[in-house]
Amino acid sequence: MKGIFNKYGIILDEEKLNKFELYYELLIKYNEMFNITAITEKEEVYKKHFTDSLLGREFIKGNSVIDIGAGGGFPSIPLKILNEDKSFILVDATEKKCEFLREVILKLDLKNTEVICGRAEELGKNIKYREKFDVCVSRAVARLNILCEYCIPFIKVGGSFVAYKGDAESEISEAENAIKALGCKIEKIENLSLEDAKRTIVEIKKIKNTESKYPRANGRIRKNPL
Ligand code: SAH
Repeated sequence: MKGIFNKYGIILDEEKLNKFELYYELLIKYNEMFNITAITEKEEVYKKHFTDSLLGREFIKGNSVIDIGAGGGFPSIPLKILNEDKSFILVDATEKKCEFLREVILKLDLKNTEVICGRAEELGKNIKYREKFDVCVSRAVARLNILCEYCIPFIKVGGSFVAYKGDAESEISEAENAIKALGCKIEKIENLSLEDAKRTIVEIKKIKNTESKYPRANGRIRKNPL
Protein backbone atom coordinates (compact mmCIF):
# COMPACT_ATOMS: atom_id res chain seq x y z
CA MET A 1 0.00 0.00 0.00
CA LYS A 2 3.06 2.19 0.47
CA GLY A 3 3.09 2.70 -3.32
CA ILE A 4 -0.19 4.59 -3.22
CA PHE A 5 1.24 7.09 -0.73
CA ASN A 6 4.51 7.38 -2.65
CA LYS A 7 2.65 8.22 -5.85
CA TYR A 8 1.39 11.35 -4.12
CA GLY A 9 4.77 12.24 -2.67
CA ILE A 10 3.93 10.95 0.79
CA ILE A 11 6.87 9.08 2.29
CA LEU A 12 6.25 7.42 5.63
CA ASP A 13 8.42 5.40 7.98
CA GLU A 14 7.58 1.84 9.06
CA GLU A 15 5.92 2.92 12.30
CA LYS A 16 3.51 5.28 10.53
CA LEU A 17 2.75 2.73 7.81
CA ASN A 18 1.89 0.23 10.55
CA LYS A 19 -0.52 2.73 12.08
CA PHE A 20 -2.32 3.06 8.75
CA GLU A 21 -2.53 -0.75 8.51
CA LEU A 22 -4.03 -0.95 11.97
CA TYR A 23 -6.43 1.90 11.18
CA TYR A 24 -7.59 0.00 8.08
CA GLU A 25 -8.15 -3.15 10.16
CA LEU A 26 -10.21 -1.24 12.72
CA LEU A 27 -12.30 0.39 9.96
CA ILE A 28 -13.17 -3.00 8.55
CA LYS A 29 -13.72 -4.59 11.93
CA TYR A 30 -16.14 -1.94 13.15
CA ASN A 31 -17.64 -0.72 9.88
CA GLU A 32 -20.87 -2.68 10.14
CA MET A 33 -21.42 -1.82 13.77
CA PHE A 34 -20.69 1.89 13.40
CA ASN A 35 -21.65 2.53 9.77
CA ILE A 36 -18.47 4.42 8.96
CA THR A 37 -17.83 4.10 5.23
CA ALA A 38 -19.17 2.66 2.00
CA ILE A 39 -15.60 2.16 0.77
CA THR A 40 -14.03 -1.01 2.18
CA GLU A 41 -11.69 -2.40 -0.50
CA LYS A 42 -8.16 -1.87 0.78
CA GLU A 43 -6.65 0.09 -2.12
CA GLU A 44 -9.74 2.27 -2.31
CA VAL A 45 -9.56 3.08 1.40
CA TYR A 46 -5.87 3.93 1.08
CA LYS A 47 -6.60 6.19 -1.87
CA LYS A 48 -9.99 7.78 -1.20
CA HIS A 49 -9.72 8.10 2.56
CA PHE A 50 -6.06 7.98 3.65
CA THR A 51 -4.31 9.70 0.74
CA ASP A 52 -7.20 12.13 0.25
CA SER A 53 -6.94 13.14 3.92
CA LEU A 54 -3.21 13.77 3.47
CA LEU A 55 -3.67 15.98 0.38
CA GLY A 56 -4.08 18.92 2.75
CA ARG A 57 -0.99 18.12 4.84
CA GLU A 58 0.93 21.25 3.85
CA PHE A 59 -1.88 23.45 5.14
CA ILE A 60 -1.58 22.11 8.68
CA LYS A 61 0.45 24.88 10.31
CA GLY A 62 0.68 25.68 14.03
CA ASN A 63 0.13 23.32 16.93
CA SER A 64 -3.58 22.84 17.47
CA VAL A 65 -6.02 21.32 15.01
CA ILE A 66 -9.77 20.68 15.22
CA ASP A 67 -11.73 18.47 12.79
CA ILE A 68 -15.44 19.26 12.46
CA GLY A 69 -17.64 16.29 11.54
CA ALA A 70 -14.72 13.85 11.70
CA GLY A 71 -16.97 10.79 11.15
CA GLY A 72 -14.64 7.80 10.85
CA GLY A 73 -11.64 10.10 11.29
CA PHE A 74 -11.14 11.89 7.97
CA PRO A 75 -9.08 13.90 7.48
CA SER A 76 -7.88 14.15 11.11
CA ILE A 77 -6.61 10.63 11.89
CA PRO A 78 -4.28 10.43 8.84
CA LEU A 79 -3.12 14.01 9.54
CA LYS A 80 -2.45 13.13 13.17
CA ILE A 81 -0.42 10.03 12.20
CA LEU A 82 1.70 12.34 10.09
CA ASN A 83 1.93 15.14 12.68
CA GLU A 84 2.76 13.40 15.94
CA ASP A 85 3.59 16.64 17.72
CA LYS A 86 0.39 18.58 17.02
CA SER A 87 -2.66 18.34 19.25
CA PHE A 88 -5.94 17.31 17.65
CA ILE A 89 -9.59 17.55 18.68
CA LEU A 90 -12.08 15.50 16.69
CA VAL A 91 -15.70 16.62 16.82
CA ASP A 92 -18.71 14.65 15.69
CA ALA A 93 -22.40 14.90 16.51
CA THR A 94 -22.97 11.14 16.42
CA GLU A 95 -22.10 9.16 19.56
CA LYS A 96 -21.38 5.97 17.60
CA LYS A 97 -18.79 7.72 15.44
CA CYS A 98 -17.19 9.16 18.56
CA GLU A 99 -17.01 5.72 20.14
CA PHE A 100 -15.18 4.40 17.08
CA LEU A 101 -12.79 7.37 17.04
CA ARG A 102 -11.91 6.80 20.71
CA GLU A 103 -11.10 3.17 19.93
CA VAL A 104 -8.85 4.21 17.01
CA ILE A 105 -6.99 6.75 19.17
CA LEU A 106 -6.44 4.14 21.87
CA LYS A 107 -5.30 1.35 19.53
CA LEU A 108 -3.05 3.59 17.43
CA ASP A 109 -1.67 5.14 20.62
CA LEU A 110 -2.19 8.69 19.34
CA LYS A 111 -1.11 11.26 21.94
CA ASN A 112 -2.76 14.66 22.47
CA THR A 113 -5.85 13.58 20.56
CA GLU A 114 -9.31 14.08 22.01
CA VAL A 115 -12.82 13.31 20.82
CA ILE A 116 -15.77 15.57 21.60
CA CYS A 117 -19.25 14.36 20.86
CA GLY A 118 -21.31 17.42 20.08
CA ARG A 119 -22.58 19.81 17.47
CA ALA A 120 -20.20 22.34 15.96
CA GLU A 121 -22.67 25.21 16.21
CA GLU A 122 -22.98 24.65 19.97
CA LEU A 123 -19.30 24.00 20.74
CA GLY A 124 -18.32 27.07 18.72
CA LYS A 125 -20.05 29.28 21.31
CA ASN A 126 -18.18 27.69 24.23
CA ILE A 127 -15.24 29.86 25.34
CA LYS A 128 -13.23 26.69 25.93
CA TYR A 129 -13.12 26.08 22.17
CA ARG A 130 -13.94 29.40 20.55
CA GLU A 131 -11.00 30.98 18.68
CA LYS A 132 -8.58 28.51 20.30
CA PHE A 133 -7.21 26.61 17.27
CA ASP A 134 -4.52 27.28 14.70
CA VAL A 135 -6.28 25.14 12.10
CA CYS A 136 -9.77 23.74 11.56
CA VAL A 137 -10.23 20.99 8.96
CA SER A 138 -13.42 19.47 7.61
CA ARG A 139 -14.39 17.07 4.82
CA ALA A 140 -17.80 16.07 3.46
CA VAL A 141 -19.94 17.76 6.10
CA ALA A 142 -21.87 20.58 4.39
CA ARG A 143 -21.71 23.11 1.56
CA LEU A 144 -18.99 25.66 2.09
CA ASN A 145 -21.22 28.61 3.08
CA ILE A 146 -22.82 26.54 5.86
CA LEU A 147 -19.54 24.87 6.80
CA CYS A 148 -17.85 28.25 7.30
CA GLU A 149 -20.30 29.15 10.05
CA TYR A 150 -19.65 25.79 11.75
CA CYS A 151 -15.85 25.97 11.47
CA ILE A 152 -14.57 29.55 11.45
CA PRO A 153 -15.61 30.34 15.08
CA PHE A 154 -13.03 27.78 16.30
CA ILE A 155 -9.98 29.37 14.70
CA LYS A 156 -7.75 32.07 16.17
CA VAL A 157 -7.09 35.31 14.32
CA GLY A 158 -4.18 34.40 12.03
CA GLY A 159 -5.27 30.77 11.94
CA SER A 160 -6.92 28.99 9.04
CA PHE A 161 -9.86 26.86 8.06
CA VAL A 162 -8.87 24.16 5.57
CA ALA A 163 -11.91 22.82 3.70
CA TYR A 164 -11.62 19.57 1.75
CA LYS A 165 -13.87 19.75 -1.29
CA GLY A 166 -14.52 18.09 -4.62
CA ASP A 167 -15.26 20.47 -7.46
CA ALA A 168 -15.63 23.58 -5.34
CA GLU A 169 -16.04 26.40 -7.85
CA SER A 170 -19.74 27.08 -7.31
CA GLU A 171 -19.45 26.55 -3.56
CA ILE A 172 -16.64 29.07 -3.30
CA SER A 173 -18.58 31.89 -4.95
CA GLU A 174 -21.65 30.99 -2.91
CA ALA A 175 -19.54 31.22 0.30
CA GLU A 176 -17.88 34.58 -0.36
CA ASN A 177 -20.30 36.49 1.85
CA ALA A 178 -20.07 33.98 4.73
CA ILE A 179 -16.25 34.05 4.64
CA LYS A 180 -16.23 37.85 4.95
CA ALA A 181 -19.03 38.06 7.54
CA LEU A 182 -17.17 35.60 9.80
CA GLY A 183 -13.94 37.64 9.69
CA CYS A 184 -11.98 35.74 7.05
CA LYS A 185 -10.57 35.84 3.55
CA ILE A 186 -9.63 33.19 1.04
CA GLU A 187 -5.90 32.62 1.25
CA LYS A 188 -5.45 29.86 -1.33
CA ILE A 189 -7.44 27.55 -3.57
CA GLU A 190 -5.46 24.43 -4.42
CA ASN A 191 -6.81 22.27 -7.21
CA LEU A 192 -5.59 18.70 -6.96
CA SER A 193 -6.49 15.38 -8.45
CA LEU A 194 -6.82 11.97 -6.94
CA GLU A 195 -6.53 9.91 -10.11
CA ASP A 196 -9.65 10.92 -12.03
CA ALA A 197 -11.36 12.70 -9.15
CA LYS A 198 -11.07 16.45 -8.81
CA ARG A 199 -10.18 17.58 -5.30
CA THR A 200 -9.93 21.12 -4.02
CA ILE A 201 -8.44 22.40 -0.79
CA VAL A 202 -9.73 25.83 0.15
CA GLU A 203 -7.56 27.64 2.70
CA ILE A 204 -9.47 30.38 4.49
CA LYS A 205 -7.57 32.70 6.80
CA LYS A 206 -8.98 34.56 9.79
CA ILE A 207 -8.15 38.25 9.76
CA LYS A 208 -10.43 39.45 12.56
CA ASN A 209 -12.48 38.02 15.42
CA THR A 210 -15.79 36.41 14.57
CA GLU A 211 -18.74 38.41 15.93
CA SER A 212 -20.38 36.73 18.93
CA LYS A 213 -23.71 36.38 17.13
CA TYR A 214 -22.11 33.58 15.07
CA PRO A 215 -22.56 30.65 14.90
CA ARG A 216 -26.34 30.96 14.89
CA ALA A 217 -28.61 28.00 15.75
CA ASN A 218 -28.35 25.12 13.28
CA GLY A 219 -31.85 25.60 11.87
CA ARG A 220 -30.99 29.17 10.91
CA ILE A 221 -27.55 28.31 9.54
CA ARG A 222 -29.07 25.74 7.20
CA LYS A 223 -32.27 27.59 6.33
CA ASN A 224 -30.73 30.96 5.81
CA PRO A 225 -26.99 30.57 5.03
CA LEU A 226 -24.86 33.70 5.24
N1 SAH B 1 -15.36 13.88 7.65
C1 SAH B 1 -15.74 12.50 7.48
C2 SAH B 1 -17.22 12.25 7.74
C3 SAH B 1 -18.17 12.91 6.80
S1 SAH B 1 -19.86 12.49 7.12
C4 SAH B 1 -15.33 12.03 6.09
O1 SAH B 1 -14.92 12.84 5.28
O2 SAH B 1 -15.43 10.83 5.81
C5 SAH B 1 -20.38 13.92 8.02
C6 SAH B 1 -20.15 13.79 9.52
O3 SAH B 1 -20.39 15.06 10.08
C7 SAH B 1 -21.12 12.83 10.21
O4 SAH B 1 -20.38 11.89 10.96
C8 SAH B 1 -22.00 13.72 11.07
O5 SAH B 1 -22.34 13.11 12.31
C9 SAH B 1 -21.12 14.95 11.28
N2 SAH B 1 -21.83 16.22 11.43
C10 SAH B 1 -22.75 16.77 10.58
N3 SAH B 1 -23.15 17.98 11.03
C11 SAH B 1 -22.46 18.21 12.18
C12 SAH B 1 -22.44 19.29 13.13
N4 SAH B 1 -23.21 20.36 12.96
N5 SAH B 1 -21.63 19.19 14.19
C13 SAH B 1 -20.85 18.10 14.37
N6 SAH B 1 -20.83 17.05 13.52
C14 SAH B 1 -21.62 17.10 12.44
